[in-house]
Amino acid sequence: MEFHVITLFPEMFESPFRGGMIGRAVEQGLIAIKAHPLREHGLGNYRQVDDAPYGGGSGMVMRPEPIAAAIDAVNAERPGLWRILMTPQGEVFDNSMARDLAKRAPGLMIVAGRYEGIDERVRTLVDQEISIGDYVLSGGEIPAMAVIEAVGRMIPGVLGNPESLDEESFAAGMLEYPQYTRPEEFRGMTVPEILLSGDHAKIRAWREAEAKRRTARRRPDLLERRKF
Ligand code: SAM
Repeated sequence: MEFHVITLFPEMFESPFRGGMIGRAVEQGLIAIKAHPLREHGLGNYRQVDDAPYGGGSGMVMRPEPIAAAIDAVNAERPGLWRILMTPQGEVFDNSMARDLAKRAPGLMIVAGRYEGIDERVRTLVDQEISIGDYVLSGGEIPAMAVIEAVGRMIPGVLGNPESLDEESFAAGMLEYPQYTRPEEFRGMTVPEILLSGDHAKIRAWREAEAKRRTARRRPDLLERRKF
């Protein structure tokens, strides 16, 4: 699976994916992450990528031609990528979207915005617009990284233990059960007896009940959605 990001700050993608399981997956050739500098497609001597908004207003808007040229260049290098625009106005990213995107071979092309926004006509150049939540960041790089990380760990072979994908929060529309490790007692708080019992059927039932209880208390909206 390949991830191609069109960005004004390609250097931001250098260290975050060097370590951990995504770094290992890159080394093993399971995934590839490439940042394409948008500036190379800028206009004129100054490689301009933005301009003042028609109609006035604060801030600058990203012009469509450099983005279109960058998309065409990436497409020429790697045809068939699913095109995504990171924007706070897009569909809100979640686990099931990550699962769907992981099936989009040969991979994703992600456009990261900057400035006050992107010329509206750029929307016609992409297949999907994605937001990572109802807040505004200064750029689409961190949102793109969130998508790459969430989708990347769903690619077969990336996680050491693929079963953990099914047990994690959101996999079954619920939050994960509480986890404990050593020591058995920490600052007066003990590990629930049942987890020390070795009775796997009981442990499974306890975890399921705890996951439901926790989801009902913290994220009742997830349980509501599960009913449909
Ligand atoms: N003025 C725009 C608006 O209100 O929709 C926000 C522009 S934001 C400062 C600059 C860029 O950051 C966006 O073009 C987008 O690529 C990215 N961005 C910011 N927040 C985001 C979010 N929640 N999800 C996805 N991308 C986001």
